Amino acid sequence: MKNKICRISSVLLLCAVFAGSAGAAEKLKVLTSFLPMYAHTKSITGDLADVQMFIDKDADPHDYEFKPSDVKKVLAADLFIANGAGLEIWLKGLLEKSGNPKLKVVNTSEGISLMDNPKEFFKGSAREEEEANDGSNKNPHVWLDPVLAQRQTENILAALVQADPKNADAYKKNAEAYLVKLKKLDEGYRSAMDKLANKNLVTFHDAFPYLAKRYGFNYLGCIAQFPEQDPKPGELKSLVQLIQKNHVKVIFAENGYSPKLLSEVAKQTGATVSEIDTLEIGTPDANAYLKRMGDNLASFEKAWKP
Ligand SMILES: [Zn+2]
Repeated sequence: MKNKICRISSVLLLCAVFAGSAGAAEKLKVLTSFLPMYAHTKSITGDLADVQMFIDKDADPHDYEFKPSDVKKVLAADLFIANGAGLEIWLKGLLEKSGNPKLKVVNTSEGISLMDNPKEFFKGSAREEEEANDGSNKNPHVWLDPVLAQRQTENILAALVQADPKNADAYKKNAEAYLVKLKKLDEGYRSAMDKLANKNLVTFHDAFPYLAKRYGFNYLGCIAQFPEQDPKPGELKSLVQLIQKNHVKVIFAENGYSPKLLSEVAKQTGATVSEIDTLEIGTPDANAYLKRMGDNLASFEKAWKP
């Protein structure tokens, strides 16, 4: 009898070990380029897939320099979820370097009509010429519009269902619940913005044209097209004049980037500086998008309240 129990226990133990390792091995391996892609994907998969944020939490997704260890990560992955729209300019080189034939890259901006970088503010400047010459003047910041975020989430869902059909039902159910929350976020923006008269937006970098268009902000301009570029002196002067002409009271600095230049503009114009979040950097968290876009709404309301 004792012997029999022993035998049964070892069989059970063996089975348990086998099931454990097989279960882990079968999980779909998903890399997500940066925070919003991580949040949408993780909200759909929960723990059913192995989801990682690809760039470091403090790295700039516009301008990422990949490391040898990144090539290994890509080699082991099944899916790479990218924002697309020209954000991950480093991805092509990385994919060539890693040469993973089974990897599927998902462009979550597929089907979204892209905006050009706003030109009015830089009209006639050297920058306008630069952009016209390299032909890459599409603005990649689609994720900052909660309606377009729903489209990106649907694109992510479709890719997950195709890559991992055994979990399709769970993914669809989770995505449905997440999309309800994104719709609520959108409704929150709409009802708050309806009550505000002055929605003059001046930001640090050119991250909010989609959001501005969606909710009828008066997007006046930004300090730098990309976080690492300083404006040319003439551009700064026209921005200062624009701010004064429109009686802008609050300009927005960005989480993670030095607002020195912005503070200088504030000083010259008498505007105060508030903070807004592009979601480009930060710790991976499934709720990050909803939480931080909600915080942005609170910032706008506070800055623009009559
Ligand atoms: Zn950006």
